[in-house]
Amino acid sequence: MILDGKKIASEIRSELREQIASRVAQGKRAPRLGIVIVGHNPASETYVANKIKACAEVGIEVERVALEADITEEQLLAEVERLNHDEQIDGFIVQLPLPDHITETTILSAIDYRKDVDGLTPANVGRTVQGLPSLVSATPRGIRELLARNGIQTAGKHVVVIGRSNIVGKPIAMLLMQRPYLSLPGMSASSLGDATVTICHSKTRDLAAICRTADIIIVAAGCPKLLTADMVREGVVVIDVGINRVEDPASPRGYRLTGDVDFEHVAPKAAYITPVPGGVGPMTIASLLQNTLQAYNEHTR
Ligand code: NAP
Repeated sequence: MILDGKKIASEIRSELREQIASRVAQGKRAPRLGIVIVGHNPASETYVANKIKACAEVGIEVERVALEADITEEQLLAEVERLNHDEQIDGFIVQLPLPDHITETTILSAIDYRKDVDGLTPANVGRTVQGLPSLVSATPRGIRELLARNGIQTAGKHVVVIGRSNIVGKPIAMLLMQRPYLSLPGMSASSLGDATVTICHSKTRDLAAICRTADIIIVAAGCPKLLTADMVREGVVVIDVGINRVEDPASPRGYRLTGDVDFEHVAPKAAYITPVPGGVGPMTIASLLQNTLQAYNEHTR
């Protein structure tokens, strides 16, 4: 069965639209998200445009802060500080990547964790690890939601995560191994957790053998066709996070987007599988909207 992220993300947006409309009808102001973009990276500009569109659809106001690529780290830190203290801003993100002369961890660490709707600050990650209320980074939150809304239980299951990045691999592993009572507020996915998780990476020996013992495989490596049919057992659940551009002369753009899974051959063996595009990608933006509403609810309580 295909896990349709586009459809579930659209359901989430409808729910958020209703919740926000009802808060506004009660006389509260609308939620407000800050988006800081530095320089003119075309991919970042597309991501930001998509985020602004999604916010408009559910009734979240956006303040877009566009800064030139030669801004200094101090100037960017000053902007972060301004947003940290702006009472009208419930949450904000700094679109990554940043120019090379700016240290991303310095900037992310400066964001007030209560406004960190990308869930990337060390404070939020630490709180997630300890099971404290936190804002979970968008892609892991989206994956968790995708599993929950399709009734896929993780308790006692062996989950293999391929990839150990701070934005996907590590946090999704952490979320799925948590005790359910430690699961995070504001998430409908509260029944998830209690999995036995194995995290794999480029130095892992015999990835195929490990994957063949998995009930659920989450691939976030950025390698087309990394997961092949001989690496999975019948009935597996496959979540493909990868987004790769592969050359395709038949496409008008000259390329097409593909995940990390050999979808054509793995899908027949899988009980559930996400497509690329249309799987995890749409859930990531929906999670950013959910995080913004979570921050707003805390901020305007
Ligand atoms: P990343 O920071 O580059 O991390 C990739 C991870 O995969 C690393 O831990 C790396 O191992 C591991 N890896 C790479 N090749 C491998 C191999 N052959 N075997 C086993 N492990 C391997 O990437 P990321 O930011 O997590 O993103 C991963 C993919 O997901 C990318 O395609 C990205 O575009 C996509 N993504 C999609 C969304 C979405 O919304 N759908 C969101 C975020 C990212 P080492 O640590 O040993 O190098």
